[in-house]
Amino acid sequence: MVSEGRLARMRILVCVKQVLDSDGPIRIDAAGGGIDAVPGALFRMNRFDEFALEEALRIREALGGSVTVLTMGPPQARKCLEDALAMGADRGVLLCDTVFAGADTLATAAVLAAGIRSAGDFNLVLCGNESVDGATGQVPGQLAEALGWPRVTHVRKIGFADGGRVALVEREIEGGFLRVEVRLPAVIAVVKRINRCRLPTIFGILEAGKKEIAEAGCAACECAGIRAESMGLEGSPTRVAGLFQSHRKRHVEMIGGDPKEAARMLIHRLRELDAL
Ligand SMILES: Cc1cc2nc3c(=O)[nH]c(=O)nc-3n(C[C@H](O)[C@H](O)[C@H](O)COP(=O)(O)OP(=O)(O)OC[C@H]3O[C@@H](n4cnc5c(N)ncnc54)[C@H](O)[C@@H]3O)c2cc1C
Repeated sequence: MVSEGRLARMRILVCVKQVLDSDGPIRIDAAGGGIDAVPGALFRMNRFDEFALEEALRIREALGGSVTVLTMGPPQARKCLEDALAMGADRGVLLCDTVFAGADTLATAAVLAAGIRSAGDFNLVLCGNESVDGATGQVPGQLAEALGWPRVTHVRKIGFADGGRVALVEREIEGGFLRVEVRLPAVIAVVKRINRCRLPTIFGILEAGKKEIAEAGCAACECAGIRAESMGLEGSPTRVAGLFQSHRKRHVEMIGGDPKEAARMLIHRLRELDAL
């Protein structure tokens, strides 16, 4: 972490999403627009969010302050917060209500923004750059818009200046990177290369049980300024029209014999397969 001068303590909130682990069983639902909860399905914290959390913990270790983790999801998303607390976060907030179900990115961002406003006063919100399931990468930008804050995505390095009022970040672009200064509070979305994540220790896991996980639903979000019509399916201008599993077919053909004849045969086969 690059820092200039004496810096204020950082009050950081990290948005973490629980996702299905593709190592477990997964089944597309009958309507074809979602995933069925198959018995034995495994859930985990979105991989990108682990890096966002690790970065938050490193900033807290360097500058002091606090790390709050926030998720919107069904009741079992609490496990994702428990894992974050075991890694070292100070407290968790679970935004959970049937009204939130079916949320697209815009409705998710609206609820997350309400959750952030009611959870406290933060000078930095960290997100993963994208989820490994929905994978739109839209939530960080929409969240910043809802909060009225600037946002920087694809961030691989974070530092601070001006007493902690400005973040100095490196943002990946194709073939290089940009150095960006952004005034805080801001939303920053990080890529996996930003750091190497720690594993929870036994002590961390034991301590996690003593830490607070607050729960909030639709009523708390309404208090924070968003209407129920902006949440969940009703507040979602986009719908998943279909979800499909790709079946990758592998086919191997060996062409041997005389090299010239083999090359002729190879060209013939590639033309037959429309590959030339
Ligand atoms: C009851 C309920 C059921 C849900 N069921 C599903 C489901 O079956 N499948 C599904 O994909 N989503 C589900 N969600 C979550 C929500 O619909 C998605 O999180 C949202 O659409 C985000 O889209 P994305 O995955 O493309 O996010 P991206 O924009 O790709 O995510 C970027 C970053 O934004 C943050 N972020 C995104 N979503 C959340 C979140 N929910 N909480 C905290 N931080 C977040 C993370 O830091 C993430 O790395 C459910 C939510 C609720 C309340």
